[in-house]
Amino acid sequence: MRYISTRDNETAVSSARAIAQGLSTDGGLFVPEALPRLPEGAIGELCAMNYRQRAVYVMKLFLEDYSVAELTDYVTRAYGPRGFDTPRVAPLRRLDDRTHFLELWHGPTCAFKDMALQLLPHLLTAAARKTGEDRKVCILAATSGDTGKAALEGFADVEGTKICVFYPRDGVSDIQKLQMTSQSGSNVLVCAVNGNFDDAQAAVKEIFADPDMRAELSEAGWTLSSANSINWGRLLPQIVYYISAYCDLVNGREISCGDEIGFCVPTGNFGDILAGYYAKRMGLPVRTLLCASNSNDVLTDFIRTGRYDRKREFHTTISPSMDILVSSNLERLLYHLSDGNDRETAGYMEDLRTGGEYTVSRRIKSAMDELFAAGYCTDAETKAVIARVFAEHGYLMDTHTAVAYGVLEKYRAETGDGTPTVVVSTASPYKFCAAVLEALGRTPEGTGPELIGQLEDASGVPAPGPLKALAGRTARFTESFDAAGLPDVVRRFLK
Ligand SMILES: *Cc1c(COP(=O)(O)O)cnc(C)c1O
Repeated sequence: MRYISTRDNETAVSSARAIAQGLSTDGGLFVPEALPRLPEGAIGELCAMNYRQRAVYVMKLFLEDYSVAELTDYVTRAYGPRGFDTPRVAPLRRLDDRTHFLELWHGPTCAFKDMALQLLPHLLTAAARKTGEDRKVCILAATSGDTGKAALEGFADVEGTKICVFYPRDGVSDIQKLQMTSQSGSNVLVCAVNGNFDDAQAAVKEIFADPDMRAELSEAGWTLSSANSINWGRLLPQIVYYISAYCDLVNGREISCGDEIGFCVPTGNFGDILAGYYAKRMGLPVRTLLCASNSNDVLTDFIRTGRYDRKREFHTTISPSMDILVSSNLERLLYHLSDGNDRETAGYMEDLRTGGEYTVSRRIKSAMDELFAAGYCTDAETKAVIARVFAEHGYLMDTHTAVAYGVLEKYRAETGDGTPTVVVSTASPYKFCAAVLEALGRTPEGTGPELIGQLEDASGVPAPGPLKALAGRTARFTESFDAAGLPDVVRRFLK
């Protein structure tokens, strides 16, 4: 199966090339030329497998130039006991008979980004080999908080690579910041950017799109790749857990094989929910994909109206990993819903770049209506949801998961839709201690890791080991830069 750019149907590359390169040189994103269907009986077969076997099965459908033996080796290393605190990898947690949480934060950095970023270094270094790449690979990542640490953890001390992470200086939680700035490894760099996530993401995309910069780095023996969800190698491992969650519901007799379910996904860059869309297109019985936002509700408006308008106030919220106004992966959805119309997709992206908005065709809008619903929660609503679910069920959610659960409740009240639904739980509550403590009616005393013990006392829920281990760690990286200075930061790093 080949991969083509969302902005040019003529660029067809192998899966290894798509992963090695990250972004197409025309600025578009790589998508599979044709989406594979789950073969007849596949779900039954997958039900009998463990998470790692499911991952190999699903990924092999997309990756012709990787063998089953290779993929098995990667998932064994990525999802093993060294990184994940449960052999189930992505366990479901039942709330009531039609609501489950899919916990995607049992990996080393305690957020769902680990699901893909524990695997990406293996996929990417193999991709470089398979495409005959003899330059070393420098990974650039812009992060709204969780991608950065997960990418650092995945790539630290991986031979033949360097990794450079840019995070918005005042746009991540204390724990997220310390996780990144205390990262060990001889090939890593972490920089604060004076600006928000969109500024950091735009600056990184510009570096990728600058042919002079790429030529200069190439001369010095370096090629660039991306750890953001613009890279196909980031999206693909995420399709697996939608299918796996379905199998676990069947195995737990919560549903019968073939029943439709819904997913509710806390959304920022649209990567996670897009993987759910791919799972549905492959034949997984999914009814609605519910897209949940915080006060940065650009996607709610878009899904409801068909008009994407980024010209609005940027809010810094208690769910910082969703503080995003330009959701990169929407480009892939537009491409698919326009039936692979590269010109049309490129046109929307050009409108967004020049005018800050675009309106999709009637055809895309009605396709979206079939697939998606959307809603948002304010910070106050999010905290109320955390408090209520903890009081009623003893289940402690992080702020992002709470946004999703709050949106699901509103959606059910508005529509009466009673479809069994999986809420995608994207982070451990211990990454966002201050907000979660406040939600529980406590006053946080101190900052960062000091709050972990306080939240344990307040909730009785044990904190994950990797976050407890942050106590007493100090920052290695303390510098911050303007977005315009990032190309020079990269040049110096690769000298
Ligand atoms: C990244 C992230 C999200 C948003 O996921 P996207 O793929 O960017 O839509 C939600 N919650 C948490 C905790 C995250 O780290």
